[in-house]
Amino acid sequence: MAAKGSQPIETRLFINGEFRESSSNKTFDVVYPYTKEVVAQVHEADVQDVDDAVAAASAAFPAWRDLGVDGRGALLRKVSELFLEANDELARLETLCTGRPISQYIDAKISSERWRYFADGAWSMQGTASTNTPGLLSMTVKEPYGVAALIIPWNFPLIMFSMKVAAALAAGNTVVLKSSEKAPLTSIAAAKLIQKAGFPPGVVNVIAGYGNPTGEALASHMAVRCISFTGSSLTGQKIQAAAAKSNMKHVHMELGGKSPAVVFEDADLEAAAKATQFSIRLNSGQVCVANSRVYVQESVAEKFTELFRAQFSQFQFGDPLDPTTQQGPQIDVLQYNRIKEYLGIGAKDGQLTLGGDANDGFFVKPTIFEKVPEDSRLMREEIFGPIVAINTFKTEEEAIQKANDTEFGLYASVFTNDLDRAVRLSKALQAGTVGVNCTSPVNAKDAAFGGYKMSGIGREGLLYSIDNFVQTKSILIKASGQSAGFF
Ligand code: NAD
Repeated sequence: MAAKGSQPIETRLFINGEFRESSSNKTFDVVYPYTKEVVAQVHEADVQDVDDAVAAASAAFPAWRDLGVDGRGALLRKVSELFLEANDELARLETLCTGRPISQYIDAKISSERWRYFADGAWSMQGTASTNTPGLLSMTVKEPYGVAALIIPWNFPLIMFSMKVAAALAAGNTVVLKSSEKAPLTSIAAAKLIQKAGFPPGVVNVIAGYGNPTGEALASHMAVRCISFTGSSLTGQKIQAAAAKSNMKHVHMELGGKSPAVVFEDADLEAAAKATQFSIRLNSGQVCVANSRVYVQESVAEKFTELFRAQFSQFQFGDPLDPTTQQGPQIDVLQYNRIKEYLGIGAKDGQLTLGGDANDGFFVKPTIFEKVPEDSRLMREEIFGPIVAINTFKTEEEAIQKANDTEFGLYASVFTNDLDRAVRLSKALQAGTVGVNCTSPVNAKDAAFGGYKMSGIGREGLLYSIDNFVQTKSILIKASGQSAGFF
């Protein structure tokens, strides 16, 4: 069953260094969103498979931890090279799962970079030492948790896979990764590369399946000591509850967004329009940091909206495997129907000024709503489609109030040429990242990434991810015959 390509597609689970069928032999379909053709039937892990994967990771942990940063790093570097060699095949598989145009594909390159960085990045696992207490040498060190559970979404699956697996491994953990039921193929293909690189069995386990039962079994597993999750805030809440109820495993969460962009009258309006329309257009709006709410100062609203509309209305729908295609379909019928509901809400609550329709190929036209009440569901809920609300404001205070009036806090941007205003807004906007004259996606390699409020717990990034996978231990060495405080 190898659609649109030469190589047969691997569909099995990767547990303890081997590919194997699920214990129930149950599979689920992966559908190419453009043709709706089933491209693969992937093995669905049940509770037994989750147990097997966690047992394999537990057994592999001590030796992997004791290999040290250099030993682990050498294997990570091999994976980095293999990702580049497999670029074309990974691109094909990612496109078949997600429907994101292959013209937007740079994911294997970014992934390769992550593996290369984390190969050395684990040297940041530094502690401290002190002789401040008489009679005592006290040291604080960083240690891996043990088995890390990694659960990822479908919108950029290969990058998520790499970001989490490479960081967790570099820090000395062993891992069980559960891919998204909508986009499992590149995770399985990456497992093949990991096998080829020569990792010891059990260090990396990759399973596929739905939230229930696969994800739930993993999140509540007693032998899993930390979990790193990227996905919706609703699922994040469930995973946090499962973690708390089982064994209080450490949680790291990268969740949803409803990112605002605030455009002031003194901004470069052309640049602001170009950046904000790209943010909500990329991957058909299926991006956590997409600016789905744009607030523009009343005095320039007409001009800005015209500039925005002119660019946003240019799109070339088509087969995502065709390199000239600029916009692909939404990922599946669930997502497509969800978006259609929001199109209805927008038409009822606001003013439709571009797009507004969709066709059964799962394509949604870039859509603008204006004058949408702030309490409309269109303004408050994550849509994950190419739909933007452009509203206006008069004063800076009003802009800040509107931008912050959300339970999300992933990304916020401000467009202005007034430095004082940029500083004020950077402080006032409640988001894990504030972009001044730039909106998502910006590839700031040295920046932390994560959310305020319901957009997340913890931070990811080249310099930050390792923190999610280490715990802190203090070692106190007392000199004999000397007092150290009470004892
Ligand atoms: P989702 O929450 O539906 O699913 C994410 C993953 O969780 C999938 O693998 C799914 O099978 C699994 N899952 C579902 N229920 C579970 C449960 N009860 N226990 C354990 N696992 C469970 O999200 P999605 O639709 O795949 O992805 C889109 C969402 O991800 C959006 O909200 C988007 O904003 C968010 N996202 C956030 C970031 C970020 O870095 N903040 C990045 C990408 C996507």
